[in-house]
Amino acid sequence: MSDERYDAVVIGAGIAGITAARDLTDRGRSVVVLEAGDRTGGRTYNRPFAGLDLTVDLGGSWINRSLQPHMRRETQRYAISVTEDPSITGASFYTGGRRRLMPVPADEISDLERALAFLRDASRRVDTDRPLSEQPITDFDVTPDEFFTGLELPELTRELLYGMISCYSGAPCTEMSMLHIVAQVAAYGHATTGFVTALTERFVGGGAALLHAMIDRSRLEVRLGHTVARIAQDSDGVTVSTVDGQHVDARVCVLATPTNVIRHIDIVPGLDAEKQKVLAHNHVSRATKACILVRNLGGRPFATGTGTFQMISHAYQVDDERDILYAFGCKGGDDDIDLNDRAAVRAAVHQYYPDTEVLAVDHHDWNADPLFDGTYRVDRAHEALTSLAVLNRPEDRIVLAGTDVDDSVWRTWMEGALNSAIFAAGHADARLATITSD
Ligand SMILES: Cc1cc2nc3c(=O)[nH]c(=O)nc-3n(C[C@H](O)[C@H](O)[C@H](O)COP(=O)(O)OP(=O)(O)OC[C@H]3O[C@@H](n4cnc5c(N)ncnc54)[C@H](O)[C@@H]3O)c2cc1C
Repeated sequence: MSDERYDAVVIGAGIAGITAARDLTDRGRSVVVLEAGDRTGGRTYNRPFAGLDLTVDLGGSWINRSLQPHMRRETQRYAISVTEDPSITGASFYTGGRRRLMPVPADEISDLERALAFLRDASRRVDTDRPLSEQPITDFDVTPDEFFTGLELPELTRELLYGMISCYSGAPCTEMSMLHIVAQVAAYGHATTGFVTALTERFVGGGAALLHAMIDRSRLEVRLGHTVARIAQDSDGVTVSTVDGQHVDARVCVLATPTNVIRHIDIVPGLDAEKQKVLAHNHVSRATKACILVRNLGGRPFATGTGTFQMISHAYQVDDERDILYAFGCKGGDDDIDLNDRAAVRAAVHQYYPDTEVLAVDHHDWNADPLFDGTYRVDRAHEALTSLAVLNRPEDRIVLAGTDVDDSVWRTWMEGALNSAIFAAGHADARLATITSD
């Protein structure tokens, strides 16, 4: 036991943990946040690009205030400056082992339209205002092959679609649940064009700007370098212990770490058996993101396909000659790339932009970082809806929070982290009310 006793202890200082702490503080609860790393922000992580007066996002970056209600409210509340990306000026595609200027060959355009219409119509069955796990949509919790079966798509159309799907999930198409993608299209206002046009706003100063405003304004107590190793729960509350033997007592606990790392925390007695089963094995997303300084790009193009990177977005124009690109891939896939290998990155960029010179690369390896062990939660096919229902079932004194457990169409995004935090803080506050009145 420690000398201090808080109403709530929050584990993890990402957007979800900080938002839950802010909400509980607003409701008059005493709260402490324990964060293993030496910074707040979690998967929103900005740093200056070496040699440039420019901050890049190694993790979360894009938002959309019209489609994301929580983000709209929070950015207004804290007067966070947001910029809108200028329109793209061109596109490049890579399928069938070569670069193309059209998404698919001309004789496959109608097949691509058929596939996108099928995806859009499926998304219309998703109610964006209700938890996914409560909706009758098990037929979307299948692999892409199972989802598109019956459409008999030609090879290059299928390849292009699978490149996009793989990029947006960071997972191999053989394993992942299409629920993730159908929900994404629903989130974009039931529009498949959203994959290219929906997320075009970014925080000025980087993805962690909102979170820093919350911490400062609510004067949150955040303890960095506190890696939680154990949570003991009993009828009195929880005792949270760190790897170096510090203890914090609280009445309730909001566990807001990535789901892939929860199994490394000794929870006594354990979480319910079904949660433990879901948390026992990693989800399938191994997305990678690289920030690449290039010369001679020419405009603000967009690229997608089945190249080594499945998507390359324009991020910043540095000057008349140089630009920063954000490039996304999937670790462990057929085209795995070592982002520290400049020649490999150059070859990958050249698949889409053959005349572009790669000058420098920065990235954070989320998959190798033990505090994350992955990028964002994308479940295996046939497991997604069950996993959402199970992970969102609150325990007596512990409630999970974070984008990985979010039961909305914005799961995996910052909006999902906010949504989940609001749910978790509400549950923790209600539980505190019953304890206080005991
Ligand atoms: C490469 C990449 C690109 C992305 N792009 C976008 C985008 O453009 N737009 C968008 O909206 N979203 C994007 N996202 C997703 C977005 O960043 C996340 O949804 C969001 O930041 C997750 O917040 P969170 O609070 O749920 O989790 P996290 O930010 O992961 O916070 C969890 C915290 O728990 C801490 N922790 C872990 N273990 C322990 C422990 N034992 N004890 C104490 N603390 C611990 C971690 O250090 C971390 O700080 C991207 C993510 C990545 C990785």
